[in-house]
Amino acid sequence: MKGFDVAVVGGGPAGSRVAWELASKGVKTVLFERSPQAPLRCAGIISTTAKMVLGILDELVLEELKGVVVHGPLGAEAILTAPVPKAVVIDRKRLDVFLRRKAREAGVEVREGVSVIGLDGDTVHTTAGPFRAGLIVGADGPVSTVARYAGLPRPREILVGCQAEIRAKPRYPGHAEIFLDPGIAPGFFAWAVPAGEVIRVGLATNQGRRARELLGSLLAREFPRCEVVRSSTGLIPIGPPSRVFTGRVFLVGDAAAQTKPLTGGGLYYGGLAASILGRLIARGEQHRYGDWLREGKVGEEIRFGLKMRRIFTDLSPSELDQLVALLRDPELGEFLVAVGDMDCPSRILGELRRAPHLWPLGLKALRALGGISRLARFLG
Ligand SMILES: Cc1cc2nc3c(=O)[nH]c(=O)nc-3n(C[C@H](O)[C@H](O)[C@H](O)COP(=O)(O)OP(=O)(O)OC[C@H]3O[C@@H](n4cnc5c(N)ncnc54)[C@H](O)[C@@H]3O)c2cc1C
Repeated sequence: MKGFDVAVVGGGPAGSRVAWELASKGVKTVLFERSPQAPLRCAGIISTTAKMVLGILDELVLEELKGVVVHGPLGAEAILTAPVPKAVVIDRKRLDVFLRRKAREAGVEVREGVSVIGLDGDTVHTTAGPFRAGLIVGADGPVSTVARYAGLPRPREILVGCQAEIRAKPRYPGHAEIFLDPGIAPGFFAWAVPAGEVIRVGLATNQGRRARELLGSLLAREFPRCEVVRSSTGLIPIGPPSRVFTGRVFLVGDAAAQTKPLTGGGLYYGGLAASILGRLIARGEQHRYGDWLREGKVGEEIRFGLKMRRIFTDLSPSELDQLVALLRDPELGEFLVAVGDMDCPSRILGELRRAPHLWPLGLKALRALGGISRLARFLG
């Protein structure tokens, strides 16, 4: 039986990144990816900061985004535009191929088309036979086989995301459109994002069985008669499980629900966690992974996002619409464009404290969010 220091299960962005990090530090690593040609299940939006930190090449960028158009459920609309791009839309399928290539070049044995079907002590059972590994990294997505065999719990919530790529002209070039409409995306939101030749129109919802039908309604309402090039459905985990590692098994990326609770984006947090986990394992300090998750910025932002998500999912359509209408205030818009950070949403609160001229608007927002007592109930 072939033996490795580490077996990584899943060759998505998180798995390839851990494996690349490990092999580049001399750790003997194997990576198993069951479906290297899987359909695109991602809008591909990341901040310009994330692009830089994760070292994503310019050639993978399909679009630069300078702003966002927010549509409320009852007709309110706000357009926020920054002087320079704050986010990019990437070619996600090519990112996965690129990262697996980097892992291979660093010395990882990449086994594509191979599924992991069980774990038994230090033996990883796969469709290509058994392999021995000292440590196992589960980067196998929200419904992780590794987590199941290691007895680790599931993410707290799993949303269903459904997305179509359509051929149409962007209605707001250089902007992502967001639809905060519980009728179209119950429990989350919908989007339309220019991505080169196509627009990615999608939604995520906590009413998974209705996801396809809801996407059909969104397309019919917003982009009637458009040509759908392709579509797919995927899962978005929200809220990390209570445990993401055992003595020899470590979960990372979507398997550990390292996503932003307010947007479902997982490329940045999962990418950061993967780099850290790889470095820690290479130094023999994997026991510190839990501290990093608990005490680091990513953990802090996920906890903040979870609280904010509880507030947002409780808002009625008219409250959501009022909030969107508030965003039209030029001073507030300018402030949000200047300090808003899609990777660290909690930053806004700190900055708001230092901007007394915006406190009256802050109070209005507080009222739209249901007042102090309702907020306290969720934040407490
Ligand atoms: C509709 C939608 C839109 C999204 N939009 C964005 C966005 O705009 N920005 C953003 O940052 N994030 C977005 N996300 C989230 C993002 O796609 C994920 O966070 C990201 O893919 C997580 O990467 P990962 O490597 O952890 O998992 P995955 O990308 O899911 O990779 C897991 C891999 O493991 C493989 N695998 C699973 N089980 C096994 C097994 N038993 N054996 C071998 N291989 C296995 C799978 O084939 C897969 O390739 C979106 C998600 C969805 C569903």
